[in-house]
Amino acid sequence: MGYATQPKASHFVNGAYLEDTAGEVIEVVYPATGEVIAKVHAATPAVVEAAVSSAKAAQAEWAALSGTERGRILRRAADMIRERNHDLSELETYDTGKPMSETLYVDATSGADALEYFGSLAGSITGEHVHLGGDWGYTVREPLGVCAGIGAWNYPTQIACWKGAPALACGNAMIFKPSETTPLCALKVAEILHEAGLPAGLYNVIQGMGSVGASLVTHPEVDKVSLTGSVGTGKKVYAAAAAEMKHVTMELGGKSPLIIFDDADLENAVGGAILANFYSTGQVCSNGTRVFVQKGIKEAFLKRLAERLDTAVIGDPMDEATNFGPMVSKSQREIVLSYIEKGKAEGARLAYGGGAIDGNGFFIQPTVFADVTDDMTIAREEIFGPVMSVLDFEDEDDVIARANDTEMGLSAGVFTADLTRGHRVIGKIDAGSCFINSYNDAPVELPFGGSKQSGVGRENSKAAIEHFTQLKSVYVRMGDVESPF
Ligand code: NDP
Repeated sequence: MGYATQPKASHFVNGAYLEDTAGEVIEVVYPATGEVIAKVHAATPAVVEAAVSSAKAAQAEWAALSGTERGRILRRAADMIRERNHDLSELETYDTGKPMSETLYVDATSGADALEYFGSLAGSITGEHVHLGGDWGYTVREPLGVCAGIGAWNYPTQIACWKGAPALACGNAMIFKPSETTPLCALKVAEILHEAGLPAGLYNVIQGMGSVGASLVTHPEVDKVSLTGSVGTGKKVYAAAAAEMKHVTMELGGKSPLIIFDDADLENAVGGAILANFYSTGQVCSNGTRVFVQKGIKEAFLKRLAERLDTAVIGDPMDEATNFGPMVSKSQREIVLSYIEKGKAEGARLAYGGGAIDGNGFFIQPTVFADVTDDMTIAREEIFGPVMSVLDFEDEDDVIARANDTEMGLSAGVFTADLTRGHRVIGKIDAGSCFINSYNDAPVELPFGGSKQSGVGRENSKAAIEHFTQLKSVYVRMGDVESPF
């Protein structure tokens, strides 16, 4: 065990660990065994104030540094994260239950990618010169000030970095509130950033339930809120932020379509559908949970899918051979099981799995429903667990209309050997993050985020710079002022 699961204190504020035992106790449960592995306290109003005031005090000086200087610290933190990847991955596994075979490759490493990318970009955040005849103007990309980041529980290290890296690169300060379910990893991100040279106060982590997140959103000194969470929470946070005209980025849920045409390479299509539904035990916002399979290959697809699911290694997440771990919590498992019951009750055909796995951990079988129709609850609501719905289709225009028949629009994928069709179909789908002959890749260089109710704004890529800065424009007159009086 690299890091102790019990952190030195609940919060990281003003460059140091901070405790306030007056805050409500939050138990951290290891999802693979149900054991309590740590306890933290929710932030009291005093901790929230300490975080906001330290962020406010540190931000102006940070913004005054050159981008290159800021970026150097972020890139140093990225290197340190990579050096400590094994221990950070273990902590991520304790926090979430995701197997080491995943966390070693996609959590701390993805966080390091974000710090490296935005650290490298920081020196290139510039405005424009605008020629205006004899006069001229220019624009300046200014930081927003103090930003609040609020995270979901599925990718605690990644979310802490995806929000923190662009915020800091642009000259902001950040206060991050992890999900109460996974409070451990973000503390390590804060610790490493400061060890890498980040001045105190610029990246604070405070724990708590939704109410702590809400107190950040409404705090008068907080200028921007970036949330990763459900659509319901997103609407509340967006409305609260709007009341004070604050900037927002909303990374919310989805019910994304994955369309498989009968000319697709079957092995790749099955592999894509597995990645789109069972990675991280299905707890991924961009998952393609409505799998539309063209009728000609439906039975072959279901058969091959079942054969490959039979090879899943379910068990101890610390064993690197395991590739399918537990759900994050008992309550999330209950939610998923209730959706499985709804699927059965509404007439979908259970083609694979369908039950909890005995033991103290929150394990559940990878589950596939076939003959799912568009109106069924499992085809309409985000389940956030390992439940794939397979729907039949025959015609391209019809499947596009059905794929778009949802209030959400985070992701979409298409598998086909006909690349013209691949681009044509993706061009007509209302979704922010799309894939052709692939699924769920999220490189830092590409924007990530949703359309419709799946979100506002984008994370990653150069697009994130626009969401953590605002433009000042300056008109410069070179001659005399002509006024009417
Ligand atoms: P929730 O929406 O329940 O919570 C998200 C975060 O918001 C948590 O930290 C939560 O605190 C906090 N929160 C809850 N209420 C409020 C409030 N009124 N004001 C401020 N903050 C609040 O999501 P989950 O944690 O259950 O995560 C799953 C959801 O996240 C799914 O819908 C999934 O699709 C989405 N998601 C989206 C991603 C994306 O990038 N688009 C990526 C990953 C997940 P607490 O839970 O501690 O009470």
